Amino acid sequence: MYLISSQEMLKKAQRECYAVPAFNIHNLETIQVVIDTAKQMQSPVILAATPATYSYAGIQYLISICKTAASIHHFPFALHLDHHENISDIQTKIEAGIRSIMIDASHHPFEENIDIVSKMVAFSHKYNASVEAELGRLGGQEDDLIVDHKDSAFTDPDAAKEYVERTRIDSLAVAIGSAHGLYKGEPKLDFDRLAKIRNKVDIPLVLHGASGIPEQMVKQSISLGICKVNVATELKIAFSDALKQDFKLHPDANDPRHYMQPAKAAMKKIVEDKIRICGSAGKL
Ligand SMILES: [Zn+2]
Repeated sequence: MYLISSQEMLKKAQRECYAVPAFNIHNLETIQVVIDTAKQMQSPVILAATPATYSYAGIQYLISICKTAASIHHFPFALHLDHHENISDIQTKIEAGIRSIMIDASHHPFEENIDIVSKMVAFSHKYNASVEAELGRLGGQEDDLIVDHKDSAFTDPDAAKEYVERTRIDSLAVAIGSAHGLYKGEPKLDFDRLAKIRNKVDIPLVLHGASGIPEQMVKQSISLGICKVNVATELKIAFSDALKQDFKLHPDANDPRHYMQPAKAAMKKIVEDKIRICGSAGKL
């Protein structure tokens, strides 16, 4: 009973000018690290998982582990559907207990995007599940979602206003220059565009692809209306680099209860840092 929608936590973040971090998780260990750290820092938090993660770990496993984590910590949080596209898949997961979704129809033309997302909103709101959707298109790669940078498109502020009014979504993912995966050079965010979107749209705004964006730029985005900051790649790198390093030092290691420890510690540092940058500590 402890998996909640993102709606109230993002609205509170919007009122109080901070952002809720959304961390992509993959297994028991990554869930433990994010939840333990967020609870210690008294930060609201969203655990995000892509379709590939639900397939890998199993929907019921993920939901059960997350419900258990929320219950033993007395800590309600959102388990979120990140970049989901398949309507019946989303419906199945909502019916299984998930209350926070992203329907990504950003690759469809504007009217089709509105049509798909509106239908999903009507279904989701019956379950009090919050809906995030994307207008414009982020470049880069997240799991099976690969968008060539030439096919990426920034969010148009006027279109965003119409999109939000017609779809009745709860939060809007904006494309302002961030990308999924690793940045080759210094990322450039279009803050003027973000300010214009904020002026036209009154729901919480979401920044995808925050791994590798310098702290000052994330903070500036938050000051201009970003209420949810998505972090995936940096966590994966910290976790796997620490694992690799540990195996180098201990080539005969064979006990996951030991070799997972440095990986968890490395990931915890990133989680702590992102919570600090988001300004969400103490906001439970
Ligand atoms: Zn994303």
